[in-house]
This record gives sequence, structure tokens and C-alpha cells, in this order.
Amino acid sequence: MSTVKAKILLPAISDVSGLDPLHSVTRIAGVRVYDVGQGDAIALLDQNGEPFFHLDYGGRQGNMLKTGPAIDLRLPVHRDRLVMLTHWDEDHWCTARNGQRARAAMWLVPRQSTSPRAVAFSLTLSDAKCIPESVVGIAQRFETQSADSDSIWWEKLGAHEPGIGHNEDCNRTGVAFAVVSGRHKQVILLSGDAAFDRASFYQHFRSNGYELRGMVAYHHGSSHDWRLATSKLLEGWKGNPTVLFSCAESNPFGHPNKQQYQGVAGAMQTTFGLRAVGLHFCDILFGRP
Ligand SMILES: [Zn+2]
Repeated sequence: MSTVKAKILLPAISDVSGLDPLHSVTRIAGVRVYDVGQGDAIALLDQNGEPFFHLDYGGRQGNMLKTGPAIDLRLPVHRDRLVMLTHWDEDHWCTARNGQRARAAMWLVPRQSTSPRAVAFSLTLSDAKCIPESVVGIAQRFETQSADSDSIWWEKLGAHEPGIGHNEDCNRTGVAFAVVSGRHKQVILLSGDAAFDRASFYQHFRSNGYELRGMVAYHHGSSHDWRLATSKLLEGWKGNPTVLFSCAESNPFGHPNKQQYQGVAGAMQTTFGLRAVGLHFCDILFGRP
């Protein structure tokens, strides 16, 4: 693994509150987690079950979608929709090298120290901006206009303890997301590769009685950075959550460690397991599991 680092050079957006990715959305139905082997590619679904917001765009290892013209159909992104990245590890963006429609969309990304390849890719995007430093460590929210509004919460994490590995900066300073249903009072956690106890607002939902409807296990089910605080956040959180592990069937990292999630998960699946039944994605929808 290369130790050469570079920094994302894109300009920062002047005002994140000017973004309104929910402008045509009355209700968030849930999330669609695509099977991209090792990595994340997630769409948020509107009231019609259609993707309207994209989070990460897949990797290379074990990814059956990574080549060919089908990528724009398999991982659909409309030109006027927002793509956000949790962080710059390649398993979260590099499928977009082949995704013409994804590359034409607006991207909002974290400024991180990362690989020169990631920096080079970022410069091929037609409309991409960085999250400004002024909102690092502060939870941000996009909301629907309906009465019991649904929302997307996110926070660009600041660095915590020093990292011990070459990629620690990307994992530890990424963007953590939560998707919230006001009507069902449920939340779905999408923390990318960042240990989910690091997002300050996750505890807010637990403390305020929201059910945990589901999550994509952080860092593909890795044990790395699993801490007491991580266990404590999940233990006894009400709900019957679906936990998905977005790793390749075989990987050199030992993902996933499912035992960590025993006792908190109502239903557990691996995304690679979907292929056996011919599915390329799995939806986690608000309401009853
Ligand atoms: Zn990853």
C-alpha cells in the first residue's frame, strides 16, 4: 500500500445550507445498499422508492458492476442529484471512473489526505466541492418540508486519536450519516468506515427514543477501531435492526467480524450473500422490518 499522500484540492462550497437534496422529496422511504463487493454504494429512496441521493460509489475488489456500460443503469445517478462521499478510500469511489452519469452529478466530499489517485480522480469531476472546515465536527441536516419531516443528518468528523495505519486519516476523519423517518421515529446509520460512536448525533437519536431500523456496519464489519463506546451505543437500542456488511466475499482484511453485532441485530446479512439469490442490492425500508 502506497504511503504517498496528497490532499484533495477542490474548493470548498461556500454554504452547505444552500443545498437542498430533498427539494422534490416528501418522504424518505429508506436506503438501497448496492452489492459492490468490498466497499459502499448507497442510494436514499424517495416516497416512490426512487433513488434521489447517492452516498459513495463502490470499489474494485469483488465488484461485479465495475466494468461495462451497465454501470450507469446498475448504480443510477441523475445529473441533478447530489453524490456525497464518506471518505476517500478507493472502495468508496473508484467505480465512478466508469460511471459517466455519476461523474456528471454534483459531488460534495471531505477534504482529506489521501492517495494521489484519489486526488487525480477528484479533478475529473465536473461539479465537485469540499465540505468546508467551518462545519467539521458539527452535525448538519437536510429536511423534507412535510409535518413530521424526514431528514438526512451528517457530520464531517475531526481527527480523534492519532492513527496507527497508513489509511487512518481517511477512516477517522470521514463523514458519518444517518437517515431519519419522522413518521416512524426510526433511524438508519450509515457511517462509512468511521466507527459509529464518533458521530455526536447518533447518541441523540438513541436518547430521544428513536428505533434503530438498520445500519451498514462501519468499515465493512471491521474490528479496527471497535471500542467500548461502539458497543455501548448499540447495546439495548430499541428496534429490530437490519445490519448489512458491505465487504467482498474474500478480502485480506478479515471483514466482517459479525460477532461484534451479535445481540443487537434482528437480521444480519452480507451484501455478497445477495448474489446467490440474484440480487444486486438490498433495501432497508422504514416501518416494520
Ligand atoms: Zn471502505
